[in-house]
Amino acid sequence: MTFFNYRDGELHAEQISLSSIAKQCGTPCYVYSRAAFETQWHSLNDAFDDHPHTIFYAVKANSNVAVLNILARLGSGFDIVSEGELRRVLKAGGDPAKVVFSGVAKSRAELAFAISNKVRSINIESVAELDRVQEVAAELNTTASIAIRVNPNVDPETHPYISTGMEKAKFGVTMEAAFEAYKKAAQMPNIDVHGVACHIGSQITKTSPFTDALTIVLDLVKRLAKEGIQIKQLDLGGGLGIDYQGETPPSAADYVKSMVDGIKAQDIDLPIGIEPGRYIAGNSGVMLTEVEYLKHNDSKSFAIVDAGMNDLLRPSLYQAHHEIIPVNKNTDETAKTYDVVGPVCESADVLGYDRTLKVKAGDLLAVCSAGAYGYVMSGNYNSRPRPPEIMVDGDDMHIVRRRETLDELTQGEAILP
Ligand SMILES: *Cc1c(COP(=O)(O)O)cnc(C)c1O
Repeated sequence: MTFFNYRDGELHAEQISLSSIAKQCGTPCYVYSRAAFETQWHSLNDAFDDHPHTIFYAVKANSNVAVLNILARLGSGFDIVSEGELRRVLKAGGDPAKVVFSGVAKSRAELAFAISNKVRSINIESVAELDRVQEVAAELNTTASIAIRVNPNVDPETHPYISTGMEKAKFGVTMEAAFEAYKKAAQMPNIDVHGVACHIGSQITKTSPFTDALTIVLDLVKRLAKEGIQIKQLDLGGGLGIDYQGETPPSAADYVKSMVDGIKAQDIDLPIGIEPGRYIAGNSGVMLTEVEYLKHNDSKSFAIVDAGMNDLLRPSLYQAHHEIIPVNKNTDETAKTYDVVGPVCESADVLGYDRTLKVKAGDLLAVCSAGAYGYVMSGNYNSRPRPPEIMVDGDDMHIVRRRETLDELTQGEAILP
């Protein structure tokens, strides 16, 4: 987390101390670093050098319009999975010509909205969806640019819930079915075959799953060329992992190089698209929380904090590890081992097990690496308002989403007459 550092024992985001943000905005809250998002994006973009490419930031990782706007200003493209995400991208100033639309259950309305906005590619996940895209495009009297999301059946060696490219997954089309689907698509009057797409999973910490998938995808591209079907873009998905607790994923440079080298080795000269989410957003944010109580049982000590699984779901959903560190290191407390638990009435509401901390009630903690799949997965379980999101930019801070109010919790609900 390059842009979150201690100064005189006080944790800062860029130039701003996190305790001053907590004082102003309350806790729990998410704090992001603009420089972190930009640095991560540039590291991938620079790695491609002069190879034609588009970075389609995976909006679902962190969809705040300020984040999307920061990336749109850099010229980023976007990978979306719903109409809601496309509307966010448009609102943030993103270019629909640099949008790819993924997802297994796109509705007719969502397809019509995306096709009317001329997104670069509808990434098709089933033959039934291909038929639907043809119908919707015909109704709109236009053509839809498509890729088929193939499933190369590669094991990304990651958590099963974030593994998407194996045969038992609901995602993508198997290689053999994809070959037939492309032949069918090429005959469809309102379909423009643009690319081939794949996305094999998330938090991948080696290059081999990516290069294995690439080899299989390139094989399909060559078979299609023999049928007279020319692929114009390789969309190789997202999934590059980050350091949560000492993982050593490949660098952006090594990851990109492995793909560019892989296609050059096969004498294929195609633009590459990638769909990074976590890599750009994950270590660009933390969640701030305050210790409400300490509680000691015979066998366990608990640091009970004001953020719960409704605010940050990853530990409960994926047994994900997030480092939890003090905002202020200057303390006289002695180190103890705590389970850091939230207020939600569920035993799964644990942000971290067995953490050694020097804390007392009222202290602030930072839950690290919370910039991706953090706020976006938050909810109102236990009728808890969702936290605010703050973007730090040098020595400025901006509230890019204010805290939800208690009144808002029941908005849209109704009592029977
Ligand atoms: C979630 C997702 C991504 C982003 O994955 P990361 O691991 O966050 O990079 C990219 N493409 C698709 C289709 C996805 O569903």
